[in-house]
Amino acid sequence: MRLSALGLLLAVVPVLLPTPSHSQAGDEWFEDLPTEALIPGGVAVMPLANGDAPKPSLRFNNKPALTVHRNGLWYGIVGLPLDVDTGEQLVNLDGAMMLLEVEKKDYPRSNINVTNSATVRPSNAQQARINRERDELYVALDTYSEAEPSLLKMQPPVAGRFTSVFGKRRYYNGQSEPKTHTGLDIAAPTGTPVVAPSPASVALVADRFITGNTVVLDHGSGMLSMYCHLSDTDVAVGDTLKTGGKLGEVGATGRVTGPHLHWSIWLNGTWVEPELFLYHQSTH
Ligand SMILES: [Zn+2]
Repeated sequence: MRLSALGLLLAVVPVLLPTPSHSQAGDEWFEDLPTEALIPGGVAVMPLANGDAPKPSLRFNNKPALTVHRNGLWYGIVGLPLDVDTGEQLVNLDGAMMLLEVEKKDYPRSNINVTNSATVRPSNAQQARINRERDELYVALDTYSEAEPSLLKMQPPVAGRFTSVFGKRRYYNGQSEPKTHTGLDIAAPTGTPVVAPSPASVALVADRFITGNTVVLDHGSGMLSMYCHLSDTDVAVGDTLKTGGKLGEVGATGRVTGPHLHWSIWLNGTWVEPELFLYHQSTH
């Protein structure tokens, strides 16, 4: 992270930050870290301690945040919620407070028309199902396994054009209240294999009203990912997948306009921009 954006509060114990041994961006030093974006829906990448120090304890919004051992240092990888207040935010490192400066980001808006209009205006029974499935999803997303994610910079789970970006405010079928798009849409023909972009265990497999056939993967330490609208799934809860392991196929199930993969990443209890975890990001 830019050290100028990182201050110390009136902490009793000062936080001494290690100095990375490499300085140029884009080299191997950054190889397996997400791209930092200090914006709502973004990710902070914070050097915390030298790698021979004990694993630091990092918390944000009263939740454990991801710490990883990379390039001889401990790093904190903190997901910033889409509804986070801009300005100063506090991160708790081993009991001392660190300051993050979150910048404003105006996400794009769009109108979207889906033909399965029940997914936009559900009946009472359908709404009850949506609520039940939301609760089940949050139980799965609450999974916290101690293992560190073994890969943070990834290839996309399916090859294809990015058709709807993370954070977009979408107005469905002329409705006045937008829904915030909490993932990245990748267009591909029905039946195209969808693979795990990094090693994981399967935390949820479900046929859901809004997101269709859905798989949630647990990468460890509160980092999970979600794959939606699949035509078919190939995995069961508890299965482990290596990078490139097939989890299902692209489809058009749930609230969609056509076949695509909706891919989301969840970090310390919030959805974050998946493109920050890709080697090659689109320009938008
Ligand atoms: Zn989507």
